[in-house]
Amino acid sequence: MRLYCHDHPETLALESEVIDARPGAVLLAQSPFYPGGGGQPPDRGVIRWEGGEAAVAGFEYEAGLLWHLFEGGAEAKGRVEAAVDPLFRNIMRQLHTDTHILNALVFQAFDGALVTGVQMYADGSARMDFDVPLADNDRLRALEAPINEVIRQDIALSFAYVPLAEAEAQHGLIRSRSVAPPPTPDGKIRIVEITGLDRQACGGTHLTSTGASPPIRILKIDNKGRHNRRVRIALADVAK
Ligand SMILES: [Zn+2]
Repeated sequence: MRLYCHDHPETLALESEVIDARPGAVLLAQSPFYPGGGGQPPDRGVIRWEGGEAAVAGFEYEAGLLWHLFEGGAEAKGRVEAAVDPLFRNIMRQLHTDTHILNALVFQAFDGALVTGVQMYADGSARMDFDVPLADNDRLRALEAPINEVIRQDIALSFAYVPLAEAEAQHGLIRSRSVAPPPTPDGKIRIVEITGLDRQACGGTHLTSTGASPPIRILKIDNKGRHNRRVRIALADVAK
């Protein structure tokens, strides 16, 4: 799956033709929205047309096509403007990038530990679960300073598509089946790289450089059974 927002991460609003519409849903020729996935919630935003507008309430794939859903029965027609909520998207890009940094440092410090789950929240916090048997929680908590050092160093991110078989053959590239993105129709998978630090398959939205995130705080570490640790982080400028 290759989304417009992957190739145009800075384009948050665009004009598009309506390909198909029904009350409460519209299919656009082009869309700036991220429909959610890999622990990142779907974008919020609005679609406007002549004589009307509606907030986007969700997304639905039908036969591989992405429908935008509205609350209620609004029906878009003609040419529309599709606009992503910029504040929400920016929080998600920051959090998503920061979860990769956390993931990379856990992967390094705990011998290739894998992610077993991740979820980002609109309030600027996120949780990540790691399979780290017998991990010392203080060592996990101590990763806060190195994470913030990576943010401070303002390291560039890059994005590429590689054949799925190649990605599967390289240890650590696919950190978790649960967060790996679906391949494109031609069998490629999107790889997100933080230069010199981390390279992994991911279909979400990220910053183009780590320095665009505020520092983070590690809020809490919970034990989830013998193997799993749940690490909660929050952007420092929104952490209470
Ligand atoms: Zn990602």
